[in-house]
Amino acid sequence: MTTSYPALALHVAGHWTTHTGGGTRPVVNPASGMELGRLPLAGPQELAAAAESALRGYRSWRQVRAHERYGALRRAAALLRERLDLVATVLTLEQGKPLAEARREVSLSADIIDFQAEEAKRLYGRTVPPRVEGILSHTVARVPVGPVAAFTAWNFPVNLPSRKLASALAAGCSVVIKPAEETPGSCMLLVRCFLDAGVPADAINLVCGDPGEVSSFLIERPEIAKVSVTGSVAVGKLLGAQAAAHVKRFTGELGGHAPVIVCDDMCDGDALDFVLRQSVAAKFRNAGQVCASPIRFYVPRGHLGTFAERFSAAARALRLGQGVDVATQMGPLTHARRVQDMERFVDDAVAQGARLLAGGHRVSRPGFFFQPTVFADAPAQCRLMQQEPFGPMAVIQPYDSLDSAIEQANALPYALGAYAFTRDLHTAHRLGEGIEAGMVGINHFGVSQPELPFGGHKESGLGQEMGPEGLLHYTDVKTITVGTPF
Ligand code: NAD
Repeated sequence: MTTSYPALALHVAGHWTTHTGGGTRPVVNPASGMELGRLPLAGPQELAAAAESALRGYRSWRQVRAHERYGALRRAAALLRERLDLVATVLTLEQGKPLAEARREVSLSADIIDFQAEEAKRLYGRTVPPRVEGILSHTVARVPVGPVAAFTAWNFPVNLPSRKLASALAAGCSVVIKPAEETPGSCMLLVRCFLDAGVPADAINLVCGDPGEVSSFLIERPEIAKVSVTGSVAVGKLLGAQAAAHVKRFTGELGGHAPVIVCDDMCDGDALDFVLRQSVAAKFRNAGQVCASPIRFYVPRGHLGTFAERFSAAARALRLGQGVDVATQMGPLTHARRVQDMERFVDDAVAQGARLLAGGHRVSRPGFFFQPTVFADAPAQCRLMQQEPFGPMAVIQPYDSLDSAIEQANALPYALGAYAFTRDLHTAHRLGEGIEAGMVGINHFGVSQPELPFGGHKESGLGQEMGPEGLLHYTDVKTITVGTPF
């Protein structure tokens, strides 16, 4: 492994800085537990400078014509593709996912930037015919919302910031981004792509620090107009409440607890092979640390035994290892706290009578590895059935009728991703309409695409990212109406 971890710095007020008003903290390789570098943390001075810089950046960037913003974003996407090897390697080193997954993440991030660049040119308003004499025009315009404070989780350290940076910059906003402190290096390389592509240095500010202090500080600042967070439901609620107290715009991409309904017509032969192959790959991608990761598999009662046995065998066969090793199919969890949390999920499920079919233990090797874990027949009240495990854990549950499967799928207050498998077109429509979720994938798990809006219903979030809808969340509506002067 020849790539060295980049020197870590913050990007504040147009400069990269290692000034550490908030001290430093280690960034750790989760596959080994070894320190990769030390991250400078912003204190109040750097945070204030970042907010002021974002306002300056906004004032100039919003004047840049949409076609020029488009050009800068397209160049940023091209630079990200040129630097893919480096960015993906750094991502894997700090986050743990297999290198092939990291490469796909970086490549998809470039596609997201390209898509939002194109959308920058299509921020159309409308003209409305005046109803009275003496009015020349009514114009309803989309204007940038202003400087954005953006907070992102560590599970997709390039993709999640790309969504926010691309949409905000395409709309004409500036940003103060705070990536997760566990995975800052790959986000810094992403920010460099935007800067090298010609986005003004004030328009992107990157800070790290104590998450609670940074978010409280920035959200209260008068310069900040919008808050965008990708994270847990608990943090989303907290930041949403802080934003609401100042009537600031808010987008929350929060946690989920995705159900998968497998219909009777997909439970044997090639169809079952297809469902299992897709399901195991989707479940253990990024070691299950995916907001739309499938968690609850609902299978017709008569097929549960075979489905659970084959799913568990495939889970046990996965090769665990360092993400940089090409043979690795599942990497470590991103930090030690997640391993402890997995143990709590397992202890609770076992104590409540769920059947443990595979895994259930940490792996005794350096780093934060946990076995791919499969349960069946978990009682509805156990923690695994109520809270997002955010790790390599699945539960397989029986159902007796499609209505009851849909009812169980909809039983939680979370509604981000949901999936179903059927060959019947009528059933596909019934599931698509009946399952409560921001995104329903029928016969596949690929609901996250640059051109599709990504977002949750119920407690899983507010607003969407990506697609044309994602851009609109970085705009406000403005009506300009002009009458004859006399
Ligand atoms: P988290 O909620 O702990 O943190 C999210 C971000 O908010 C981080 O940058 C964190 O530092 C920051 N933060 C700001 N103020 C904070 C405060 N007061 N306390 C704690 N953190 C604060 O989430 P996480 O553990 O980083 O990520 C996992 C969660 O993110 C999961 O619930 C997952 O489902 C969710 N997620 C959602 C999406 C989506 O698009 N819906 C995508 C990825 C992850």
